[in-house]
Amino acid sequence: MHKINRINLEGHEMPTHWYNILADMPNKPLPPLHPLTLQPVGPEDLAPLFPMELIKQEVSSERWIEIPEEVYDIYRIWRPTPLYRAYNLEKQLDTPAKIYYKYEGVSPAGSHKPNTAVAQAYYNWKEGIKRITTETGAGQWGSALSFATQLFGIQLQVFMVKISYMQKPYRKFMMNTWGADVIPSPSELTESGRKILEADPNSPGSLGIAISEAVEMAMKDPNTHYSLGSVLNHVLLHQTIIGLEALKQLEKTGDYPDVVIGCFGGGSNFGGIAFPFLHLNFMENKHTRIVAVEPASCPKLTRGAFQYDFGDVAGFTPLIPMYTLGHEFTPAAIHAGGLRYHGAGAIVSQLLKDKLIEAKAVGQLETFEAGSLFARVEGIIPAPESNHAIAVAIQEAKKAKEEGRSKTILFNLSGHGFFDLGAYDQYFSGKLEDYSISDQEIAKTVGKLKKIIQD
Ligand SMILES: *Cc1c(COP(=O)(O)O)cnc(C)c1O
Repeated sequence: MHKINRINLEGHEMPTHWYNILADMPNKPLPPLHPLTLQPVGPEDLAPLFPMELIKQEVSSERWIEIPEEVYDIYRIWRPTPLYRAYNLEKQLDTPAKIYYKYEGVSPAGSHKPNTAVAQAYYNWKEGIKRITTETGAGQWGSALSFATQLFGIQLQVFMVKISYMQKPYRKFMMNTWGADVIPSPSELTESGRKILEADPNSPGSLGIAISEAVEMAMKDPNTHYSLGSVLNHVLLHQTIIGLEALKQLEKTGDYPDVVIGCFGGGSNFGGIAFPFLHLNFMENKHTRIVAVEPASCPKLTRGAFQYDFGDVAGFTPLIPMYTLGHEFTPAAIHAGGLRYHGAGAIVSQLLKDKLIEAKAVGQLETFEAGSLFARVEGIIPAPESNHAIAVAIQEAKKAKEEGRSKTILFNLSGHGFFDLGAYDQYFSGKLEDYSISDQEIAKTVGKLKKIIQD
């Protein structure tokens, strides 16, 4: 018989505050800059797009920020999420390591993303906002925000990359079910969309174009705001509920992690699981290793430059200090769509620069090998993004075996893979490949960045 061990928390044991790591970082991130003036952006620059409460959180140095009651009540639908010990995986790997994982796939949208979507919808609702625009690639973020805005009676307009809109309709159906208006991007609704369509009526779209359209719509209407699902400080703040719960759950086991692992797109689920443990590294002199895992085909943390860059491909956003491959970098079409982002959030970038966290890159085939092994022994089918964290958890468990010593591993399982079964099918039929990328390719897009940070 396989052993299943779920370490549970009652709802009332859920953390009541998010953890703001800005309060404790030895070096704060450099400020975001206005792309024309190169001056730090102020709240007034961001006010057309975001509610003031989120703008304040973006720069707050308060260590603990209270979770509003309305948000807490909605979190209760699926939180606390389970923490499991992966006994079967340990047995399969014949490792002395203990492997724990936090499972965020139990949320209504199937990933960690609703943790911030609900908070963002709430602060917009409180400010009287009637409509929010956003962009989505394969639909993870769009579906999380559709769920959240619906609960607050806010209308959501999602610009979905056209090729995904056509090829991956199921997340679109989810968004429609939650009442969102989903528009294939590029569209005729915006100037940026029309300009693209004029040049290429058959444009498949891109995340960069979709961002431009969503931002343009929000800028045009004072009752409309814009919302982003990763990268920004306030997004990572909301995700710390993951690590805070994991800490409480682990207390019940008597174990404490030697290494904490998260997959890395813009940094939100990684920051969410990791920051509460970094807090204890800072305050209690613990020495937990913190590892971010990115795809080898989109290696901004392991091979990118630390430089100011745009958050989007079109160059509309403020300049953010980050590890980046350059905003014009186009990653290969791997299936972990949520990890195909050229840059990283400012906080995680500073932490990496200060060597307070580590980064690793893993090839696509290794991630699917890890994910399918995991599904077979632990039962949960992970999202391709989450497979990156699993791959490195397995590497760490194997290392423990080689070294013949025990260690405790914790990783975040950021979402389920029910809408990604086509990718698993391709893996099983031998059609998936690893993509390698040359230093010259990286230098091409990194070389175009203005050298604002001198090294
Ligand atoms: C979006 C997404 C990611 C990557 O985004 P982060 O902001 O880096 O967390 C990872 N896993 C899943 C399941 C996602 O939907």
